[in-house]
Amino acid sequence: MKNIDSILIANRGEIACRIIKTAKQMGIKTVALCSTIDINALHTKVADEVFVLDGTSSLETYLNIEKIVKVIQTANVDAVHPGYGFLSENANFAKAVIDNNCTFIGPTPEVIETMGSKLNSKLLAKKSGVPTLDSIDVTSLTKEELLKSVNREDLPVLIKASLGGGGKGMRVVYNLDELQEAVETAKREAKSAFSDETVFVEKYIENPRHIEIQILADLFGNTFGVFERECSIQRRHQKIIEEAPCAILTDELRKNISDAAVSIAKSVNYTNAGTVEFILDQEGNFYFLEMNTRLQVEHPVTEAISGLDLVKLQIEIAQGRSLEDLKISSPNGHAVELRLYAEDPYKDFMPSPGHINSFEIDENIVRLDTGYSNNSEVSSIYDPMIAKIIAHGNDRHEAILKLKYALKSAKINGIVTNKDLLIGILEESEFVEAKTDTFYLQRHKPETLTYCLDETRVFQAAVAATVAVAVKAKSTLVNQSALPIGWRNLRSQLEILKFTSNNPCFKELIVKYSFDRYNNLDAIIVNETSLNSKIVTVDTEKIGLLTNNSLCYFDYEIFDQNRIWVGTPLGDIEFKKVPEFVDPAESVVAGSLIAPMPGTITKILAEENASVDIGQDLLIIEAMKMENKVVTPIAGTVASIMVKVGDQVSNNQVLAIIKEEQTIEE
Ligand code: ADP
Ligand code: ADP
Ligand code: MG
Repeated sequence: MKNIDSILIANRGEIACRIIKTAKQMGIKTVALCSTIDINALHTKVADEVFVLDGTSSLETYLNIEKIVKVIQTANVDAVHPGYGFLSENANFAKAVIDNNCTFIGPTPEVIETMGSKLNSKLLAKKSGVPTLDSIDVTSLTKEELLKSVNREDLPVLIKASLGGGGKGMRVVYNLDELQEAVETAKREAKSAFSDETVFVEKYIENPRHIEIQILADLFGNTFGVFERECSIQRRHQKIIEEAPCAILTDELRKNISDAAVSIAKSVNYTNAGTVEFILDQEGNFYFLEMNTRLQVEHPVTEAISGLDLVKLQIEIAQGRSLEDLKISSPNGHAVELRLYAEDPYKDFMPSPGHINSFEIDENIVRLDTGYSNNSEVSSIYDPMIAKIIAHGNDRHEAILKLKYALKSAKINGIVTNKDLLIGILEESEFVEAKTDTFYLQRHKPETLTYCLDETRVFQAAVAATVAVAVKAKSTLVNQSALPIGWRNLRSQLEILKFTSNNPCFKELIVKYSFDRYNNLDAIIVNETSLNSKIVTVDTEKIGLLTNNSLCYFDYEIFDQNRIWVGTPLGDIEFKKVPEFVDPAESVVAGSLIAPMPGTITKILAEENASVDIGQDLLIIEAMKMENKVVTPIAGTVASIMVKVGDQVSNNQVLAIIKEEQTIEE
C-alpha cells in the first residue's frame, strides 16, 4: 500500500477546506483545484498549491475528468479526495485516478458504479433481506403504459432519478393527471444534472423520518456502523438540519437499522466511508433509500458524538490501516448541524447568489465549516450552501441552545440567507420536542417560523438604521462636517425614511424623526410608535441607544448605498432604504416578466401572440442546477419574448412582455 504524502482535493467550497484542514494536521501536502471565478475562493487560500482549470461551469472545471487527470500528473500527487457532489460518485473518475497510479480516497470504482444507481442498489438491499419500496422504471414508458403501471391506489408516488443526488430530479405526484408531465420534468432534470434520464416511481411515504447510518470499512473486511443521523428537516427533499443521534429511536430499532446498513455494505465488500440512507415511517417500518459512496455533507455531527475524524480515517483506510482496533464506544452527547444557504425561504427557497459583505460566527460556541468569509461571492453556478454550523452539547437541548445563540449573534450580511428560518425552527415547539419528519416544512410555512426580534428591539433597530443613514449622509457632506447629523435648514417638519426588509415580521417601516442641534434625537416615530430614545454612542461600527431603560448596542454596516444592516447579540435586521425618487431606468413596463434570479433559459413554454392565463408557466430558468418556473404575472397575450433557450439572464432582466386582455369595448 502506498503512503499518502500529498493529496489533490477535487472539489471546492467548505468541503475542500474541511479536507485540507485534516490533511494538514496529518502533515500531508494539499493541492487544490479552482475554476477561473473561484480564484479568490477560500479553498484556494488554504491549500499549499493550487491549479486553475480554465472555465467557469462545473462541466469545464470540477466535473472535467480530463483536466483533473492532467493536474494529477503535473502535481504528481499520491492520492485524490473527491469530497461530495461533483465527481465523488463517478466511477470513471475513480478509475482514472487509479490508472494514474494514484490512490482514490473512497470505495472501488466497481462499488461506486453498483451503488450509484438507486434502482440497482435497491435490488441488492432486497437480496440482503433489507426492506425496500417497490420501484417501477418508467423512463421509456408511453403515456398508456405509464398509466397502466401506476394505479390510483398507489398514490401518492415519487418519481426519482436513479442516479440522483441532492434531492434533484424528484417529483411527487398526488394525481394521475400530473404523472406524465412530472415524469418528463424529472427526466429533463435528471439528464441535465446527472447526464442520465433513468427515472423510476416508488410509493411516497407520508410524514417519514430520514435516518442514515455512517459506515466505515477497511480493506480487510472490518465494517462498522458509526451511529445514526436523523436528517428529516428538509426542503425540496434536501436536508437543512441534521442531528446525531436520532432522539426517538428505541435501542432495538437503532440496532436493526444499523445491522441492515452494515449488511448492505458487506454485501458489496464496501471499503472506506459511506452512508446508507433509510426512511422510517410513522409505524416504525424502515426502508432502504440509497447508499452514498462518499463523505456525507453532515458527517460533522457523527464526528462530534464519536470523537472520530472521518476524513483522517478515510485517508488512513486508503493507506491500508486496519480498523480491527477501532474503538467505537457509546455516543457522547448530542450534535446538531445547520446548513446555511444563500436562498430566500419566502420566495420558495429560491437561490439568492450574491456578495457576502460580512461573515462572522463565534467559533468558540460552534464548529463552522465554510468556504466563504468576509467579502466573498456566492456564484449562481455552484451549490448555494454557504456554511455548515455544528453544535455539540451534553444533550439535544444544549446543542440547540448553542446554535441559536451562535446564529443570533452572527454577523452575516449583504446576501439573503435562510438564517432567520433556521433560528425559527430551533425555537419551534415540534422541533424542540423532536417531533421531526420530512414534511415539517410543509406543515410549518417559513413565514410562520421566522425568528424576529421583539418589538422594542425592532423599534431600536429602526432608530439605529436611521442614525446610521444620518451619519453616513453627514460623512459625505465633507464641507459641512461640523453640522449636526440631522441638520437641515427648515426644522419645522419631521424627516421621513422608509425601510423595507426581507423579514416577514416587518415588511415595511416608516420612520419620522428630527435631531436637535446637539445631535440628540428630538423626535422619533416608527410606524406610529414613539418611544423616548437617546443616542448613547455613535462610531463607525456601533450605535448605542437607550430606549426607556433598555440599553442596546447595535453593530451596523451600510452597503450598496441603500442597505443598512444592524445587529445585536439577539438577532439582526437588514433594512433596505426605499429611495425617495424611483430611477426611471429601474421601472419596467406593466406586464413584464422579470427573471427572478440569474440563470440559463432552458425552456420556453409559450409562443408570441399566444394567449395566456395568469400564473401560467411561461419559461424555465435553470439556476444552481434547479429548474425554476417563471409564470405570467397577468392574463393576456404574449406580446414579445426577449430571450431564447440557452440564454444566460441576469436578475430582474425583462424576459417577456404580456399585453393585458382588453375588455370588450362597448
Ligand atoms: P448528503 O447526501 O451528503 O446529505 P446532499 O444530498 O445535500 O448531501 O448533496 C450534497 C451535494 O452533492 C449537493 O451539492 C448536491 O448537489 C451534490 N450531489 C449529490 N449527489 C450528486 C450527484 N450524483 N451528482 C452531482 N451532484 C451531486
Ligand atoms: P437523493 O439522492 O437526492 O438524496 P434520496 O433517495 O436519498 O435522494 O431521497 C432524498 C429525500 O427525499 C429523502 O431524505 C426523503 O425525504 C425523500 N424521499 C425519498 N424517497 C422517498 C419516499 N419514497 N417517500 C417519501 N420521501 C422520500
Ligand atoms: Mg439521499
